[in-house]
Amino acid sequence: MSDPIGAGAPPSLAIVVPCYNEQEVLSDSAQELLTVVAGLVEAGRIHVRSRIYFVDDGSRDATWPMLEQLALRNPRIVAVALSRNRGHQNALYAGLSQTSEDMVVSIDADLQDGPENIAAMIDAFVAGNEVVFGVRTERDTDTWFKRMTAEGYYRVMQRLGVDLVFNHADFRLMSRRAVDTLLEYPETNLFLRGMVRELGFRSTTVSYARRPRLAGESKYPLRRMLSLAWRGVTAYSIAPLRAITLLGLLAGTVSLVLIAWVLVVKMFSGSAVPGWASIMVPVLFIGSVQLLCLGVIGEYLGKIYEEVKRRPRYHLREVVARQAVESESSR
Ligand code: UDP
Ligand code: MG
Repeated sequence: MSDPIGAGAPPSLAIVVPCYNEQEVLSDSAQELLTVVAGLVEAGRIHVRSRIYFVDDGSRDATWPMLEQLALRNPRIVAVALSRNRGHQNALYAGLSQTSEDMVVSIDADLQDGPENIAAMIDAFVAGNEVVFGVRTERDTDTWFKRMTAEGYYRVMQRLGVDLVFNHADFRLMSRRAVDTLLEYPETNLFLRGMVRELGFRSTTVSYARRPRLAGESKYPLRRMLSLAWRGVTAYSIAPLRAITLLGLLAGTVSLVLIAWVLVVKMFSGSAVPGWASIMVPVLFIGSVQLLCLGVIGEYLGKIYEEVKRRPRYHLREVVARQAVESESSR
């Protein structure tokens, strides 16, 4: 591993925490993370120059002023502000690109994924792994609905041939090299847990039980969950496109049968006039199949459109740290 500080020094650690309207949890999570980092430094596991990067993802509450204060008071804390809300994945990406430490851990602000597991992740890193995935063994603290949808989602993704770590969200440790490689990926639609799998470095998992949210509400309502899930499908699999072909074959077979039936009725039953139903059924059916197919193609087209535009994923508004690095930039 790179060791810019000197031979024998332990690796430095960066913790990246995306925050969106997290005023209820911030002071507690900052305190807990600082304690974990201080403990690791004291134990000689990580370098003293380890830092915690909080990224304010355009919060509308007191998150930013709180972060600013934390950063001004504590040399281990860096506060980064995006120009507006860009979503969890982009905020996380922005945080990752601010780091320069040897190991980078990403974690949610509500500490549902307990930071006490970071020590085990560092063990795995020291043992030679470049990526360490945090895996939730039980999710009693999540709602029944969230558990079911998440479980179903991992199943579907597996069927589609997408390589995901089961029950891993975005709590993981990455080596400097893994982070730098990840930052080379140019796509606008980020699905980091899929991209990190794509990197292919030596990796392992660390299991833990998920805690309840410290306070506040989930910032992932159903709408956002569905959007992330769908992005995962379209960004990593062309299976839906293939499904269109199958659906087309199926519709074709059904309409052939219907056509045969119509012809038989017309030729062999004297009185039969092919009726309203026999015209409307296939028309409606085929019409709906076509609409569905167009919809799926449109989804991919939309993604291609977004990628082709090459728009920056975010703009930085401010970076506050004790060594006062002020900057405005986009990536
Ligand atoms: N988050 C963010 N931007 C958003 C939504 C969420 O940075 O637009 C952050 C949020 O502050 C938290 C993490 O993403 O640190 C995960 O959100 P949350 O805990 O609400 O999701 P859940 O655990 O319920 O899936
Ligand atoms: Mg959470």
